[in-house]
Amino acid sequence: MDNITIRDIKVFVTAPRGINLVIVKVETSEPELSGYGCATFTWRHKAVVTAIEEYLRPMLKGRSVHNIEDIWQTMMGSSYWRNGPILNNAISGVDEALWDIKGKLAGMPLYSLLGGKAREGVTVYRHADGGCLEEVKECISQYIEEGYRHIRCHMGTYGGNFDGKRQQMVKPEGAPEGAYFHPKMYMDSVIRLFEQVRKDFGWELELMHDVHERLSLADTLAFAKELEPFKLFFLEDSLAPDQVGYYKYLREQTAVPFAMGELFTNPAEWKTIIQNQWIDFIRVHLSDVGGVTPAVKLAHFCDAYGVRTAWHGPNDLSPIGMCAQMHLDLNNHNFGIQEFSGFTQEEEAIFPGCPKIRDGYAYVDDTPGIGVGFDEKEAAKYPAVDMDHSWLFARLPDGTAVRP
Ligand code: MG
Repeated sequence: MDNITIRDIKVFVTAPRGINLVIVKVETSEPELSGYGCATFTWRHKAVVTAIEEYLRPMLKGRSVHNIEDIWQTMMGSSYWRNGPILNNAISGVDEALWDIKGKLAGMPLYSLLGGKAREGVTVYRHADGGCLEEVKECISQYIEEGYRHIRCHMGTYGGNFDGKRQQMVKPEGAPEGAYFHPKMYMDSVIRLFEQVRKDFGWELELMHDVHERLSLADTLAFAKELEPFKLFFLEDSLAPDQVGYYKYLREQTAVPFAMGELFTNPAEWKTIIQNQWIDFIRVHLSDVGGVTPAVKLAHFCDAYGVRTAWHGPNDLSPIGMCAQMHLDLNNHNFGIQEFSGFTQEEEAIFPGCPKIRDGYAYVDDTPGIGVGFDEKEAAKYPAVDMDHSWLFARLPDGTAVRP
């Protein structure tokens, strides 16, 4: 088994719930041995496919599968300019597939390769949303019934809404189309939402909220202070990656726990806030930083500073990527919580071996490698789609474009 090499690398795009998922298959010189990884950057999936097919594939064919660290470093350096989401996702697809192969060769699940379990199940949280308070409450009740105890609460998706009324705002003449939101009304609606949720559901439920970098620095601080009485599990992405220095001031002035980082792509963005212990949870999207290899290093770096992991787990992540991060969740001592968006029946048919969820915990079985397969025929039933980008064009009431 010493001379196993990469025979070929294939890329698949499938959209079983109308969201493009990018899957990488690394085939080896052993006909029966291959691995799968997630390279999903759903908003630019064609660019990721091109990066893999036109650059990584020719570079890696014929290389040994064994030295993942060397391959990862080679992929990262191979374009000279690096650290962007397109190339990192491409790298992640290959990286995760190689870890999958290594697990299959060892006869061990990934968590075992990483050092074994620190816990038996992975605590997950769900995202509750709705157009009005009643809808959000219905959504929360449903999750509680299903056994979840950690819920992220929103109303009107990102940027807010209150009681079914779209926020009133006066735009300048000629203002362009966009996903308009009003920061002060958004803040107000969220405070009212949490008042109601605590009143109706009590204090045992763990609650989160995601700012999605929508607020100014001053508003973010005021918002965090206003949320203190509701005792959140964490407040997510309060700032944009280029403003993380302001966490110093947030930390000094509020007791709200902070989660940060789903847009991060490289260590320069997270080093300072972790070393200074300005955040409580690191929240990167595994494929957006380059896969399992850099995530293991990041998790251990965080452990030294008492920062816990809360990997990004939206529905624009394939079950292969979700399961890869659940292996880390099982292994990392400093695991905090895992975002989870459910698996549809269609996804479970395409990706056999999806983790099972019971009473708010995810369970990964002992299948060697990442443990999630890929049925190419099933996947082909759901070809790539043109996705609706409209929510990404966020604007303030005066028409100024802001981060979504
Ligand atoms: Mg988020």
